Amino acid sequence: MDQADDANLVDEEDACPVCSERNADRLAWLDDEKVECQMCGTVYKPPRGGE
Ligand SMILES: [Zn+2]
Repeated sequence: MDQADDANLVDEEDACPVCSERNADRLAWLDDEKVECQMCGTVYKPPRGGE
């Protein structure tokens, strides 16, 4: 695994469901629940351990 910028990655379960993007810089929060992936444009709701 590449450890270069591991600190900037979200948990695997919070990654984009389409392209598996995990870089927090490319995942923009739209509101309290939804995230927009800047790589593929997908809007999704990360589990965040709540459900
Ligand atoms: Zn994506």
